[in-house]
Amino acid sequence: MENYQKIIEDIYLNLKNVNDPGKVANYIPELGTVSADNFGINITDIHRKSFSIGDADKKFSIQSISKILTLTLAYQLEGEELWKRVDVEPSGNPFNSLLQLEADFGKPRNPFINAGAIVICDVLISHLKNPKEDFLNFCKDICHNNNLAYSDKVAQSEKETGFRNTALCNFIKSFGNIKNKVEDVLDFYFYTCALELSCAELSQIFLFLADDHFLCQKGKTVLTESQAKRVNAIMLTCGFYDESGEFAFRVGLPGKSGVGGGIVAIHPDNYVITVWSPKLNPKGNSYKGMHFLEQFTTQTGISIF
Ligand code: GLN
Repeated sequence: MENYQKIIEDIYLNLKNVNDPGKVANYIPELGTVSADNFGINITDIHRKSFSIGDADKKFSIQSISKILTLTLAYQLEGEELWKRVDVEPSGNPFNSLLQLEADFGKPRNPFINAGAIVICDVLISHLKNPKEDFLNFCKDICHNNNLAYSDKVAQSEKETGFRNTALCNFIKSFGNIKNKVEDVLDFYFYTCALELSCAELSQIFLFLADDHFLCQKGKTVLTESQAKRVNAIMLTCGFYDESGEFAFRVGLPGKSGVGGGIVAIHPDNYVITVWSPKLNPKGNSYKGMHFLEQFTTQTGISIF
């Protein structure tokens, strides 16, 4: 356990100055303003012991990592009914692809591609009085941290350039799988992606997926044991879009990435680890983040396999 600090330091130093061929996402212009040199890591175990290195306390745009949080709240609210609206199969396609939706009659392959997360946002809007406020309160509640906020700048920037997401939402609505107004669903979706957390805060917020006994501020478990198993399973099979197999193969943990350069990985019954490095590989996953986690599970010899 005590070795975690030394192991993350060693890998951090190993990777810090390697030539990173990745590119910072700029299709959302505001994301392109972030310094490519940021590099942070945090690991928090289920006993709340936390180890950090680098920019682990700087907040960044969590982007698609928020898809775990929206799924969790929708799963709490809808239970198994949720799977009538979204499937649990890997898509093998990029995160923003429209390709399969026509053949699948508007039912997205899984909740971790944009199409699936947009449907999940629609489900949440149907349940919540004030979706943005209620979702933010849910996030604060599960990480016992009131210091969380959306970035209006990032949300607005994505709204101005989110043509593919607008197409996805309209297309799904044409099949009847979006119940609310397209602009309301997209506004909520863009805000959920614009949540800002640090690596240390992200490790904290996902402890409920590593620890069956984790309680939110209201003293309740966030998901049942069976639900947490299922969310982890979808992360393992779908968390990295058309690179999900590669991540499972190299790292061996359930995880989820975002185009802000963050990656969260869970070792059930053990720890949550978060890496942030903004330069992305061609599949939209953090180049150094993938390498860091591969080296981490290799050096510690601990993965779920
Ligand atoms: N907000 C981003 C988008 O919809 C999220 C994508 C991601 O992080 N993979 O394009």
